[in-house]
Amino acid sequence: MADLETFYNLCMQKGLKITPQRIEVYKTLAACSDHPSVDAIYKRVKKVLPNISFDTVNRTLNTFNDIGAAFVVGGDNVKRFDGNLEKHHHFKCVKCRNIIDFKHNEFDNVKVPEHLGQMFKVLKTTIFVEGLCRTCLEKDNKLK
Ligand SMILES: [Zn+2]
Ligand SMILES: [Zn+2]
Repeated sequence: MADLETFYNLCMQKGLKITPQRIEVYKTLAACSDHPSVDAIYKRVKKVLPNISFDTVNRTLNTFNDIGAAFVVGGDNVKRFDGNLEKHHHFKCVKCRNIIDFKHNEFDNVKVPEHLGQMFKVLKTTIFVEGLCRTCLEKDNKLK
């Protein structure tokens, strides 16, 4: 679900101009729960804004990442974006590479080890659980 208010606030805080294109890219990303790649977002945004270029979408997403309005998750060769600004964690299917959101209060309170904070700049903490998703499991069962 698109949290436009949070998005507007972030833009204002970081001095980012709110343009119709940015709004559309943000709304599209926030409406996706499948952590889409730039290409997938581009295809969806293009339906509403036919003149938008891939480059603009790509740049816009990277800008969102910089201001904290979206963030990059997983992705093996392809960058994938997450527009869910609520605290959440991820289940990653090792087979189809799907990344699925889930909530768990105990994971929200996991503390980042202190030495990590000294070595790196920690921006966000999300727990990744890996395994096989439902669809892949069902496919496997059918094969047997
Ligand atoms: Zn899967
Ligand atoms: Zn997510």
